[in-house]
Amino acid sequence: MNPNPFIYGLLPEELEVFCKEHGQPAFRAKQVYDWLYGKLVSSFDEMKNLPADLRELLSEHFSFQTLEKLEVSGEPGETQKLLFKLSDSEMIETVIIPAPRRGTNTVCISSQVGCVFGCAFCASGQKGVIRNLTAGEMVGQVMEVGRELGERPNNVVFMGIGEPFDNYSEVMKAIRILNHPDGLNIGARKITVSTCGVVPGIERYAEEGLQVELSVSLHAPDSETRSQIMPVNETWPLDELMDACAAYTEKTNRIITFEYTLIKDLNDSLGQAHELVKLLRRFPCRVNLIPLSPVEEFEGERPDRETMQTFFQALEKAHINTTLRDSKGSNLKAACGQLRSRRINEVF
Ligand code: SF4
Repeated sequence: MNPNPFIYGLLPEELEVFCKEHGQPAFRAKQVYDWLYGKLVSSFDEMKNLPADLRELLSEHFSFQTLEKLEVSGEPGETQKLLFKLSDSEMIETVIIPAPRRGTNTVCISSQVGCVFGCAFCASGQKGVIRNLTAGEMVGQVMEVGRELGERPNNVVFMGIGEPFDNYSEVMKAIRILNHPDGLNIGARKITVSTCGVVPGIERYAEEGLQVELSVSLHAPDSETRSQIMPVNETWPLDELMDACAAYTEKTNRIITFEYTLIKDLNDSLGQAHELVKLLRRFPCRVNLIPLSPVEEFEGERPDRETMQTFFQALEKAHINTTLRDSKGSNLKAACGQLRSRRINEVF
């Protein structure tokens, strides 16, 4: 594979600098951006209105082929998982979640190869982190999905393999490229960053002045239970996390979505629903309740329907905006990393 940096990792102003440094007029940068994100081309040769010497220059310095699609699981029109090989042979996953009735195509992208946080129910964190993805590799996932679907995705969630705030600068750059009016122009409110509770990341994110959404994986209403399934709670305990979320909400006026995976006999009792209500009462928020998707690496089970309904109703009664999702592809965190770990196990 071409070892040059991925073309999708450049902001328009960086492309402009590149053009100027190579004696090309700045407006060429806009033309290149239009070919990349307007016309979705997959080679420099297709950029017909560029002079041949600029096309050659671009291909000498940048690459299109950084993600090689190894596998697609799932049927077109339904939730699908794509396994990609990167230029250094590492693997990542990307998920497509179509919602035809809402007219949306959501892409769930990875931000790292592996993850250091090791949540018990997640296949991605079982073997630690190998490296951060570049902004280009993150934007590239969205572009590959665009090609797979034959149309541009309009929703992006950073909820695949990795913890986005552990790769802060490149994730912010990817957001700026995805959101740029000359790029894919995906609305800030259609982009969500999901964290397992990295408090310094939440604090920094609050200062960005972006309209991008934030989702926080909570999964327990008390520190003791949370520590059992999320080691991150040892570094940034629940109290500290909730203080950071309150400060974020106050500073940005934005509503956080809390993800809560329901696990049988661990965090699904009515008493725990009431504790959750107490925890979340201090600021406006949303809650996504998600039945556990079984993964090989974790022995937990999903609760029965009645238990989940009781939990859901307790939150609703307390006027907390709550969704009880069906499990079809929605427990991205648990399910993410499974294709990758299966491949790794096959190889080693
Ligand atoms: S759930 Fe997220 S933070 Fe936790 S191990 Fe998996 S990828 Fe990492």
